[in-house]
Amino acid sequence: MSTSSTLVTREHFDYLRARTRAEDPFLTELRAAAVAAGIPAISIAPEQASFLQILLKGCGAKRVLEVGTLAGYSAIAMARALPPAAEGGDLLTLELLEKHGAFAREWAGRSDVGDRVEVRVGPAAETLATLPDRSRDVAFLDADKGGYRVYLEHCLRIVRPGGLILVDNAFAFGELFAEEPRDPEVGAVRDFNDHMARTAGLQGVIVPIGDGMWVAVVEPNTP
Ligand code: SAH
Ligand code: MG
Repeated sequence: MSTSSTLVTREHFDYLRARTRAEDPFLTELRAAAVAAGIPAISIAPEQASFLQILLKGCGAKRVLEVGTLAGYSAIAMARALPPAAEGGDLLTLELLEKHGAFAREWAGRSDVGDRVEVRVGPAAETLATLPDRSRDVAFLDADKGGYRVYLEHCLRIVRPGGLILVDNAFAFGELFAEEPRDPEVGAVRDFNDHMARTAGLQGVIVPIGDGMWVAVVEPNTP
C-alpha cells in the first residue's frame, strides 16, 4: 500500500516531548504524590496533556466530561484549558474508587482550577445515565476498557453535535499487536477500536500520542 506516513519511534516521542510545553511543577508533584499513595502510575503522558489542552482551547470548550479520574492528573490539566467556573468552565470527572476520587478532589482543591473541577465517585455507567443530553462539549474516556462501549453510547447523547469524544489507550498499553498480551484489557481495546471505527455519526482518528488516543468529532447532523 502506498503511504506517506512515517513510522513513529521512541525517538520521535522523545523529540516531540522536548518540543511540547513541559509538565508544570504542580503536576510533577501530583504524579509523585500519587505513586507515594499507592495509586498506579497510569496517567496520561505530559505531551498528551498538552495536546488535550490544545484541543479544548481550539474548540472553545467549556463543559468537559472525563471518565476515569485516577489521581486527577488529566482532569487538572484539562481544567486549565477551560475558562473559570464563573465564565462557565466546568470539568466533571467520574471515578469508581473512593481512594482515587478523594486524592483527586484534594489535589484539584489545592490547584489553581479547583473552582471548575468536580469529582464524582461511583460506577461511571450509573453516573453517565444521569447526565443530560447535549450537556458537554468534550468527553474524554480513560477508565476500564471493558466499559468503553457503554461509555461511548452515553457520550453520543451527552456530547453536543460538533463536540469531541476523545478516548485513551487505543494502542492497548503497547500490546495492540501482541500475540499473547499480558494485560487482560487488550482484547477489549481491540474490540472497542473496531466498534469506534464503525460508529455512525462520529468521524475519528487514532492519534499516535501517548498510548494512542482517539480524537473524534460528533457529526453535527447526528439526530
Ligand atoms: N485519566 C487519568 C487516568 C485514569 S486511569 C489520568 O490520565 O490522569 C483509569 C481510572 O478509571 C482508574 O482510577 C480506575 O479506578 C477508574 N475506573 C475503573 N473502572 C471504572 C468504572 N467502572 N467507573 C469509573 N471509573 C473507573
Ligand atoms: Mg489512559
